[in-house]
Amino acid sequence: MARNLVAYGISPGCRLPVDWKCEGCDWVKSAAPARPDPTSIPSEVQSEFDAHRCDDYPTKAFESLLADFEAVDFPPEAGNLPGHGEGHVYVLCWKANGRDVPFYVGQTNRLQGRMNDYQSAQFAACTDFRVGEAIRYLRERRSLRIVARYKKSGDPCKDESTLIRDLQLSGLRLLNSLPSYDYLKADKDEERRTVQKFCEMLVENQPR
Ligand SMILES: [Zn+2]
Repeated sequence: MARNLVAYGISPGCRLPVDWKCEGCDWVKSAAPARPDPTSIPSEVQSEFDAHRCDDYPTKAFESLLADFEAVDFPPEAGNLPGHGEGHVYVLCWKANGRDVPFYVGQTNRLQGRMNDYQSAQFAACTDFRVGEAIRYLRERRSLRIVARYKKSGDPCKDESTLIRDLQLSGLRLLNSLPSYDYLKADKDEERRTVQKFCEMLVENQPR
């Protein structure tokens, strides 16, 4: 089995931890970027990598499903995402132990615009509010790093429903399954609490 060590999250001047992963299995180690060269392998990472056995780290099914998805930190910097007119399916995840744990799946022809919608989180748009509040809770209350994974799609609606199905079959729960509210009748604070409780449940039950 291949035992190459590859790094994720390296960019010039970036202070966020780099995720070092084994290409042959699910082994992962987060470490502060090495200085002065962030692409060099920190010695503690190398020694733990040398000691691990690929057989002990089977890849989680949900990670395999996202293998060919691009990744960008949320909120994405302006110009970092494709704009209008291209179909995409995307997955919002939080980072835990180097894994991207999905909590919401969507599709769009305006990827950057959707990410902006989640930052404004208007109550009148149920999904925007739900997802926006979930992101805020996970980042601010749970101090989790949020990542948007995305992939170009010729049939975004179909790819979205297939991915929702497959992620759920892998054992994950998603915000997509929460029944929507009617904003003319719903109470904003109550809906916010519902989202927060749902996220709390997700984090408590996250895959290890
Ligand atoms: Zn391995």
